[in-house]
Amino acid sequence: MSRENFIEKLKRGDIFDVVVVGGGITGSGILRRLSMSGLKVVLLEQKDFTWGTSSRSGKLVHGGLRYIKQGQIVLTYHSVREREKLLKTYRELILPLRFAIPLENNSFVKKAIYRFGLFIYDLFAMKKTANYVSNSELVRDFEFINSSIFGAYTFFDAVTDDVKLTLQVLFEALEYGALAINYAKVAEINKIHECYKVVFEDEISGKRFTVPSKSVVFATGAWIGEFNPSLSIRKLKGSHLVLPFEKMPIRYACAVFHPKDKRPLYVIPWNGFVLFGTTDIDYGENLNSEVKITKGEAEYLLEALNHWFPKAKIDSKDVISTFSGVRGVLNTHKKDPSKETRDYILKVKEKMIFVAGGKLTTFDYISKKVSKKIFSLLNENPANINFNKFENSSKKAVSVISMFDKLFWDSVEDNYFSKVLKSSFVVHLDDLMIRRSRLGLTNLDGGFECLNKKKGLIMSALGWSDEKYNNELKRYKSVLRYYRLNG
Ligand SMILES: Cc1cc2nc3c(=O)[nH]c(=O)nc-3n(C[C@H](O)[C@H](O)[C@H](O)COP(=O)(O)OP(=O)(O)OC[C@H]3O[C@@H](n4cnc5c(N)ncnc54)[C@H](O)[C@@H]3O)c2cc1C
Repeated sequence: MSRENFIEKLKRGDIFDVVVVGGGITGSGILRRLSMSGLKVVLLEQKDFTWGTSSRSGKLVHGGLRYIKQGQIVLTYHSVREREKLLKTYRELILPLRFAIPLENNSFVKKAIYRFGLFIYDLFAMKKTANYVSNSELVRDFEFINSSIFGAYTFFDAVTDDVKLTLQVLFEALEYGALAINYAKVAEINKIHECYKVVFEDEISGKRFTVPSKSVVFATGAWIGEFNPSLSIRKLKGSHLVLPFEKMPIRYACAVFHPKDKRPLYVIPWNGFVLFGTTDIDYGENLNSEVKITKGEAEYLLEALNHWFPKAKIDSKDVISTFSGVRGVLNTHKKDPSKETRDYILKVKEKMIFVAGGKLTTFDYISKKVSKKIFSLLNENPANINFNKFENSSKKAVSVISMFDKLFWDSVEDNYFSKVLKSSFVVHLDDLMIRRSRLGLTNLDGGFECLNKKKGLIMSALGWSDEKYNNELKRYKSVLRYYRLNG
């Protein structure tokens, strides 16, 4: 199972049932469902798998409590139900996470609103998690929180690593015979009789290949407008800060409101670090280059952090890294970007499906809807499909993915390091450092010391010369600037 091997298979010219364009969570989820259903499918991603929004999310698998306040009850219901299902399917990758919502005063009305919202939220999940904690308990759990806080409501949501989850889902599809190629940009689609000819550019060889297919799914998120300009998409950018746990020791997550515009923000413990975000602003720049936090966004986030956690005294020097992503949402021209719906958009044109929006959390819900559409477009009968297998995760894939965090540990044997590297579709050094090991996000120096130790192994596993390795180092350094506040 390798990129080269998949390209060789494509050269045979077989006709596919479906080509999925886009290697984020949505495309991977659709690929998984379709391949498990026995269809012949291939996924094409223009950069690295998860390079788009699916490596830059807030990492929450959640219902979205705030959507209840916005009246998006159906979206919240489906998201909570999906959260519950995914917690069971992906036990190793998605973990329950307790949240506190601190109260700035003892307002009866505010407390009643929270109680009602949390009651609905828990009702959807069919379990009681909501609780009230006093100021003293809160100060014990959040050492640096503003001590004038009155108390807090707590409840449970869930957290993941978006890259790992997406790759897990993708690898499961591959186990069922799907193909997936990264650095394969779809450049053109032509329809000849009833067959689509999907032309992609292979970044590595510089060659163009054509894949014949009965149907095409565009799961290209914020890029969807490039393939279907009639869709009215609003591109919204969100940025997060990664902070050292020692500077922000928190026992669980906290949902706070920005002191100025009252937008909700989350501070969450993640992989031994703390994430804080997100901003939510319109984005008009080139989607194909890396996205970077602006000075204004960083100031906005630090202002909120210091309002709620003044004793932590966080400033820009404490920020280890940042990451920014752009999502495409249905444009209803709301003044406040955060009020635009996070529901998904699905359009069908002949035998092409365009899907965008949605959430990491609802990927399988969306995949199910798209798969059903595909079956009806292809006149296939899903009657023989064993839908139970969709509820199980693959242990084989988990064993590779769970290694990503530990990859650079001294205890990892060289053979094992090479094996994981070869089977995780690493093409560039930034794939390895930002989206497999995550050292680019969690290590102040970007992990160059670790890289140095493994240089020989990386070169032999990936077949790189000295010159290639040095070029990759240069490339990684320039990508890393986008993940640094002062890069
Ligand atoms: C700041 C932020 C925070 C978020 N936080 C959360 C959260 O906490 N929980 C949650 O549930 N959701 C969250 N979301 C939403 C979630 O991240 C997205 O809904 C999800 O990642 C979208 O996945 P996708 O696969 O549709 O898009 P993407 O992940 O963007 O994938 C689309 C892919 O298509 C590729 N592509 C584009 N053009 C081509 C082409 N021509 N050929 C081949 N490939 C192409 C792109 O390179 C890209 O990788 C957040 C979003 C943002 C922006």
